[in-house]
Amino acid sequence: MNRTRVLRVAIDTPLRHLFDYWEPTSAGRHAAQVGVRVQVPFGRRRVVGIVAGIAAEPAIAAAKVRAASAVLDADPLFDTPTFEMLLWAARYYHHPIGEVLAAALPVALRRGAALDEIAASWRITASGQSEGLAATAKRAKRQHELLARLLNEGPASAHSLTPWREAVRELAKRGWIELVEQPRVAAPARPVQVANGPALNPDQQAALAAIEATLGTFAVHVAFGVTGSGKTEVYLRAIETVIARGAQALVLVPEIGLTPQLLTRFRERFNVELAVLHSGLNDGERFSAWRAARSGAARIVIGTRSAVLAPLAQLGLIVVDEEHDASYRQQEGFRYSARDLAVTRAQRLGIPVVLGSATPSLETLANVDQNRYRLLRLPTRTGSAQPPVQRVIDLRAHASEQGLAAPTLVAIGKHLGRHAQVLVFLNRRGYAPALFCTSCGWMAPCRHCDSRMTVHLASGRLRCHHCGAEEDIPVVCGSCNGPVKPVGQGTQRVEETLARMFPAAPIVRLDRDAIRRKGEMESAFERVISGEARLLVGTQMLTKGHHFPDVTLVVVLDADQGLFSADFRAAERLAQTITQVAGRAGRAERAGEVLIQTEFPHHALLTQLIEHGYEGFARSAIEERRQAGWPPFSRLALLRAEAGQMSDAEHFLAGARRAAGRLPKDIELLGPAPAAMPRKANRYRAQLLVESSSRSALQNFLDGWIPRIDELQRAKVRWSIEIDPAEVF
Ligand SMILES: [Zn+2]
Ligand SMILES: [Zn+2]
Repeated sequence: MNRTRVLRVAIDTPLRHLFDYWEPTSAGRHAAQVGVRVQVPFGRRRVVGIVAGIAAEPAIAAAKVRAASAVLDADPLFDTPTFEMLLWAARYYHHPIGEVLAAALPVALRRGAALDEIAASWRITASGQSEGLAATAKRAKRQHELLARLLNEGPASAHSLTPWREAVRELAKRGWIELVEQPRVAAPARPVQVANGPALNPDQQAALAAIEATLGTFAVHVAFGVTGSGKTEVYLRAIETVIARGAQALVLVPEIGLTPQLLTRFRERFNVELAVLHSGLNDGERFSAWRAARSGAARIVIGTRSAVLAPLAQLGLIVVDEEHDASYRQQEGFRYSARDLAVTRAQRLGIPVVLGSATPSLETLANVDQNRYRLLRLPTRTGSAQPPVQRVIDLRAHASEQGLAAPTLVAIGKHLGRHAQVLVFLNRRGYAPALFCTSCGWMAPCRHCDSRMTVHLASGRLRCHHCGAEEDIPVVCGSCNGPVKPVGQGTQRVEETLARMFPAAPIVRLDRDAIRRKGEMESAFERVISGEARLLVGTQMLTKGHHFPDVTLVVVLDADQGLFSADFRAAERLAQTITQVAGRAGRAERAGEVLIQTEFPHHALLTQLIEHGYEGFARSAIEERRQAGWPPFSRLALLRAEAGQMSDAEHFLAGARRAAGRLPKDIELLGPAPAAMPRKANRYRAQLLVESSSRSALQNFLDGWIPRIDELQRAKVRWSIEIDPAEVF
């Protein structure tokens, strides 16, 4: 009888269960425990997995269980609350546990690298203390300094000692210092030196006091402040308190929000180690930042969505800036909401989390209504800035020049004449959204998608913004050989029109075609901030967190795109976009003006927004959701399928529907139905929506249903499930 224990191992595969292995029999370097990596045979390969549980007996026939080859770690990779959050996330999002844990690990660790392979720490040895300090005191000043520092301040990361390379080599040779894995509990490397920030206004003081009063307990604070109201300063002060108490702070920012300016602001403020985690890091950088977060060496961790999965030894506060931002949602593979996981994590740890936004999501505001989250209002702009005046321009009532209405052009001229800057927003890049035949009405289609090709005049190409297909712009209609012309406006055409109408005003265009690399974005912003550029034209890129103090006029060229969408979140997104763009105007001494062009000037959404602001809009939108039974007043999961033939995708979903059997009382299935764009990149897409009024009823249903979907015949179909989907049509 084999007395060895059974390791239940999570392996990076699409299979939803754990794999049983015998604990390695030979005495290895480390003992197996939950949370350590193990090397195991898997098919014909050897792979790295993570021990998620330990059992006395295997769940499958003992004869089929193989032995693990080695235990790779001395300690669990994740602190217990983080590890439990990851296990919870795999269950809640119904994603294979092995893939969830893999998503939380740097590549090097997934491949089996030793934890101390990079960026280990140096610490002073006993002989270093007894002999080294005395021996170096007179004749080796630099070595002595380093020894004294390691004695007084504790181990320092090898990375941080690069300037001391010579001294490190000499001291190591004598055995006065030694390389160790970074300590799991690290005191701040140096006293936290904080540069003085600006004085807080009363609203900021109240917000800070509310956050500080909850340190050490779970609380969700919603910092609801217009652009320029000084939210960041409140975060910085709260973080200062947290690190002064020896804890760490995790700051999540949207993808586009992680700018050099933001990092500079943190570095100028805090003299502590800062770890930055985002998708642009190379494997080594990511490994090293992850380790610094895990060990506690980094007192502040700033990152985009996946940073919420990183272990932090002494996490004391989480900040989610621009909590409404779509980039917090992972849209492929392990589909999760980093904002929601941040709240779950804070709850498990018993610490506060701050969700900041000028335009909080309706879900978040509904939680405020139900007293689950606390609202911290930051209603005033700091300094003397005044809120902008918003006005609708009725496109039906005025002549227009390539999408720019006459009153808009007059206003632009007026603001430019006062030496101010003008921002023109249009969420559509390219020259024109369609190429149109004037004799038969044909529009150049994408061959691979149910969509039209966008005209990119500068490069002479048609491009599909959904699948990336490209072709030359045809000179005649593809159907009748008639004459063709671009119709509608994209940012390139607006730039062209503005250049013609205002030839003296230099223009900067900001969209994905103009800005392909990070550096280009910085230099474009530089041209704006220096005042060289007078006109800014751009897409969503313009709306996020950048300060343009001289912009006094903001024009929203086409609000109508978001007014009539089938997606229940479209109105919310439009209101957020308009509010965020409007927030760029008049931030310094000058009052701003916002013009919203529309063919539907009396649309309830626009009038709510203009007369009552974002909060007024949100109140009525939440009420609409309540009446229609959409989230947060119901819970959704979306089963998606795609295949080379629509019939295969639909057949699969029909099978999934049958597999559900008789539905529980609280569960409704809607569909199968084709996706909003049924064909994309030659794949046909359909979906089945699951709705319930209760989160636990939905979870119970999915727990039983998904294993049955796993068993369906699906040779030609790819499918996925998304919990709390961002878009449902
Ligand atoms: Zn034609
Ligand atoms: Zn396409």
